[in-house]
Amino acid sequence: MSEKFDAIVVGAGPAGISCAHDLAKGGANVLLIERGEYPGSKNVMGGVLYRKMMEDIIPEFYKEAPLERPIVEQRFMMMEKESALTFSYKGLEWAKEPYNNFTVLRAKFDQWFADKAVQQGAILINETVVLECIVEDGRVVGVRTDRPDGDVYADVVVLADGVNSLLAQSLGFHKEYKPNEVALATMEVLKLDKKIIEDRFNLEDNQGCTIELFGDATKGIVGTGFLYTNKDTLSLGVGTLLSGLIKHKIKPYELLEYVKNHPMIRPYIQGSEPQEYLAHLIPEGGYNSMGKIVGDGVIVIGDASQLVNAIHREGSNLAMTSGRLAAETVLLAKEAGDFSERMLDHYRVKLLDGFVGQDMKKYKDSTHHFEKFPQYFEQYIPMVNRAASQMFTVDGSSKWEKQKKIMKDLGSTKEKFKLARDIYRAWKVVK
Ligand code: FAD
Repeated sequence: MSEKFDAIVVGAGPAGISCAHDLAKGGANVLLIERGEYPGSKNVMGGVLYRKMMEDIIPEFYKEAPLERPIVEQRFMMMEKESALTFSYKGLEWAKEPYNNFTVLRAKFDQWFADKAVQQGAILINETVVLECIVEDGRVVGVRTDRPDGDVYADVVVLADGVNSLLAQSLGFHKEYKPNEVALATMEVLKLDKKIIEDRFNLEDNQGCTIELFGDATKGIVGTGFLYTNKDTLSLGVGTLLSGLIKHKIKPYELLEYVKNHPMIRPYIQGSEPQEYLAHLIPEGGYNSMGKIVGDGVIVIGDASQLVNAIHREGSNLAMTSGRLAAETVLLAKEAGDFSERMLDHYRVKLLDGFVGQDMKKYKDSTHHFEKFPQYFEQYIPMVNRAASQMFTVDGSSKWEKQKKIMKDLGSTKEKFKLARDIYRAWKVVK
């Protein structure tokens, strides 16, 4: 492997594949290195794939990609032990081309996507671990792999090695993440008859539904759960900050078992068979945890640079957009024959000026806010459930009396002020 490439991309997830695809399409000589047996074999996602960002790379991909279901309904469940307050939006405009979002299974989707990059001319090598970046005179000039004679050289190395990115860390681009900067998610793919899925979730053929779970799904720990419909499987998962698991001394698989047996979830999955169990970290530190993302001869993209919008469960789309912008930058750098940090900084500017940077900045304090004030999950979700139960129980008392009881349940005047202050604070961190 002594050949020199225009670019080496480390990691064949949505970020790396997008980058390699667009680089090859733009005429660059690109090597995509993946440690897994095949792209997707090690990758985990709920997983909602966002049509717009994927179409920026492959127009009308939905006509041939291995997708599960176009999502027509998004539900949000505020869960208590034996109740849930649910709201949803269902729109049949999302059931038709060009659609909105899709559920996908990453093992299938990433393989297909990587094939597309290969068809454009990218060289993909699987089962190869990049051990470190080769640095000469302060500039990244290639990577060292675990293959015999495994040093490979390039004008630019793009790090798309996912959450934790040990490679970016070893370059000093970021520190080791703290337990309140990453979430640990576990999920199961559950096999269930297609027709049963459609009946249970009120769907027609080729329509999908996502349910986001809050509150008791994570036993009140800051985090979320999800239940998504695929063609003939369901994806059920739960994720919380590592700091939450440590504080509450709960093992991630215990939380998954808990949500599987929850009376609000059990009826949806009844009769299903576990097909796959997966666990993965999610970078949730947000904008404030992003390290350096550009250096001489190197660019960092996707989860490797903490690009996840946890409030909107977006990650794959930010990964793809960052991969596309990195490719655009490397092609400009190739034209100019300049791979310095100053030249590659075009990527950072484009990323931060666009929707990715704007959204990362918008929610920069959200994860830490909800971690610092756990009452949103521990107290307020149970409170809204009690309020709903009170209001919707017809027991002969007047609606004025019911309102009074709900107000009383909010606690003393001091506690009501605290609630009003928390609502204001929450609005401030997401506004
Ligand atoms: P990854 O997908 O993690 O890809 C990194 C790749 O690099 C992997 O293939 C890995 O094997 C490879 N690699 C790592 N180190 C090396 C090395 N040293 N050498 C060679 N190869 C290496 N996002 C959404 O948009 N929608 C969702 O519904 C959603 N749900 C999620 C649910 C869960 C449970 C989890 C864990 C995440 C979810 N996300 C979701 C987030 C999303 O999965 C990520 O943001 C996205 O996968 C990031 O893409 P990436 O290419 O940066 O990283």
